[in-house]
This record gives sequence, structure tokens and C-alpha cells, in this order.
Amino acid sequence: MASRQNLDELRGMVRAKGLRATPSRLAVLELLRASDAPMSHGDVADRLASQAWDRATIYRNLTDLAEAGLVRRTDVGDHVWRFEALKDEHEAAAHPHFVCTECGVVECLPEIELAVRRAKAPRAVKQRQVEVHVRGLCDACL
Ligand SMILES: [Zn+2]
Ligand SMILES: [Zn+2]
Repeated sequence: MASRQNLDELRGMVRAKGLRATPSRLAVLELLRASDAPMSHGDVADRLASQAWDRATIYRNLTDLAEAGLVRRTDVGDHVWRFEALKDEHEAAAHPHFVCTECGVVECLPEIELAVRRAKAPRAVKQRQVEVHVRGLCDACL
């Protein structure tokens, strides 16, 4: 579990957004920050199954953290919300996600620049208020 120092840091981040730093909320945020891929509510609930929190509490924590801007919610097209921690200011711009068309695994991709500044494109694209999903086979399925 979290080291003392890490826990204090998480508590500070949650409180700075005006949320109460409950143990379940801190555990959810810690788990997402340690993960290098977005996690669904089911993934998070399974990982925290040894704790006494029910799934509804964990779901509420995820949505609270998303509304507070500590976590981003993404739907890669399978109608499942996945959550990932935003680790710094730079992260506020959405990075693309890779989705395996065979097994459905989702991975984060490094940020790519959309070269649309002069091209004809909807305003949302130019302002980067879009999500980019790249589809193909993951290493395990290729
Ligand atoms: Zn796959
Ligand atoms: Zn991601």
C-alpha cells in the first residue's frame, strides 16, 4: 500500500479540489496513478476487492475524481468508461489510446501532434478537444 509520504501527497491533491480525503477515494486515486493504462470501474473494483468498500462507493469515487479534474474518463468506443489519473498539467490534453480489435486491451500512447492548424478541420479538432483512438492488434494478438 501507499507509503506515508505518498499518502500525504494524495490527500493534499484531493483536498485541494475540495473533496474529502476518504480512505477509499485515496486508494482509488493511488491505484489509477500507479497504472499505465486506463482502468474500468470493474478493473478498479476487482483490484480493491480485498477492501470493505462496495462497488457503488468506488464508482462514486471515480466520478467525483473525474469531476474534480484529477482523473480523466474515456470511452474508446466499447461503451465502457475507463478512468486514468492526470499526472501533470501537460496531461490535461488527451493523449491517444490504442485499442486491440481482438482482445479489447487499451493502452496509452504518447501524445501525437495533430497537424491540422492550417488544414480544414472542425474547431474541436484544432482546439484538441477530441479523443484519438488507434485500432489494431496488440502485441499478444498479432
Ligand atoms: Zn489483443
Ligand atoms: Zn491514457
